[in-house]
Amino acid sequence: MAYQSVNPATGKVLKTFNNHSDDEIERALNLAHSLYKSPWCKGDRGPRLEVLNRFSKLAHERLEELARILTLEMGKRINEARTEVRITADIAQYYAENAESLLAREKVATSKGDAWLEYHPIGVVVAVEPWNFPFYQLIRVAGPNLAIGNPVLAKHASMVPQAAVAFEELLTEAGVPEGAWKNIFATGDQVSKLIADDRVQGVALTGSEGAGSIVAANAGKNLKKSVMELGGSDVFVVLDDADVDKAVAAGVEARLRGCGQVCNGAKRFLIHEKIADEFVNKLAEKFTSTKIGDPMDETVGLGPMSSIGARDDIAGQVERAVKAGARVLVGGSVVEGPGAYYQPTILTHVTRDNPAYFEEFFGPVAQVHVIKSDDDVVRIANDSNFGLSGAIFTADVDRAKSLASQVETGSVWINTSSFTGPELPFGGVKKSGYGRELAGAGIKELVNQKMVLVA
Ligand code: NDP
Repeated sequence: MAYQSVNPATGKVLKTFNNHSDDEIERALNLAHSLYKSPWCKGDRGPRLEVLNRFSKLAHERLEELARILTLEMGKRINEARTEVRITADIAQYYAENAESLLAREKVATSKGDAWLEYHPIGVVVAVEPWNFPFYQLIRVAGPNLAIGNPVLAKHASMVPQAAVAFEELLTEAGVPEGAWKNIFATGDQVSKLIADDRVQGVALTGSEGAGSIVAANAGKNLKKSVMELGGSDVFVVLDDADVDKAVAAGVEARLRGCGQVCNGAKRFLIHEKIADEFVNKLAEKFTSTKIGDPMDETVGLGPMSSIGARDDIAGQVERAVKAGARVLVGGSVVEGPGAYYQPTILTHVTRDNPAYFEEFFGPVAQVHVIKSDDDVVRIANDSNFGLSGAIFTADVDRAKSLASQVETGSVWINTSSFTGPELPFGGVKKSGYGRELAGAGIKELVNQKMVLVA
């Protein structure tokens, strides 16, 4: 696929980029590998952390310019784009400030002598990243890997090449040496060849289950450590004692953020029967009154999806769900006119024999399931191939904690919707992937946890 920016609000092609040739990719790999062998990667962390520190400052300074790239290239509302740039800067800052302590030697208790763990880079990492958070996804890889000393070859999604270039330029301006971070406009075949190369030692992918299984299989075949951050079908649980208005406000945000194209967005709403009518009516009212339009307009509540293709996919998915018995409470249609717009939609009566019950809806479509008990929460939440995260709203935090421990996901958020933070480990179980990004857990994935023992 060509690397091309298309404004999804207008359909206008903004810029096209050539793919990198095999020779260019080989040169990039060589440079990265040479850097890995140098003191910049293997020596004192100070210079690497200083790059992250400068990157963070530059991202704050260029906030407006960077946010505009996101909005123009993949349709993210401008306010959400600004938030993404801020989080990106925060993650860089977090690793700049905390990598030393996160990677400090750890004593190992043993009767065999004085033993400890120390953390070292492993070599070049290949990263494959998605378009839905074009900067945030990259810094989740750049932050920990630059801190530890793993050079990265980053293959970004083909629809966000301007973000890929802007990110690389920002790191260069922050002082990263040649070879430490290289954007590659690569094909799937070129990525496969890179993974097979002995100079590459780690693989990270965020994206769909399909891409994840291909890239993970490749990494496994070549015995390379990998981290997979894949899709999700997160539950958003509202129990009978919850503050309904607070839950509705959080639910609207959790389902419509990023036009619903967020892996840990709320997708399956499990609402207790005692408050179901009130919650659903209020959610429906908010969905229908959401202003849809130009994502550059600060008063707009829902922008376009990332592409016409993505919009058509969600439209087809809703149509199939309805044919299989689901009912559309509100929305359910493409917005006529130019741009990749789709109405905020609520589906009810999605029964277990409907394929939609098990599918991820990567767009502004909420499934509502009415529940009668806490057992229903656990049963329905775990009746999914995904296991990324989930949210529970209740006045009884102990009740939520008990449910949280029974739900098969990588995280649970109580009385707030699932989000992210530099210090919070991010990742899933089941088909949502494996491994963690961010926080201390993230920085210890693609490292050599070396044990040293003095007898
Ligand atoms: P894709 O998996 O198609 O794309 C993600 C990346 O993988 C892109 O860079 C894409 O490149 C690349 N890719 C696709 N196929 C291959 C291949 N065979 N070999 C190498 N690279 C490949 O996902 P979508 O673009 O559809 O993104 C949405 C999906 O990602 C959703 O399922 C969502 O839930 C998941 N996701 C998960 C997140 C998480 O943190 N867990 C976060 C964000 C999204 P190209 O663009 O060139 O096709």
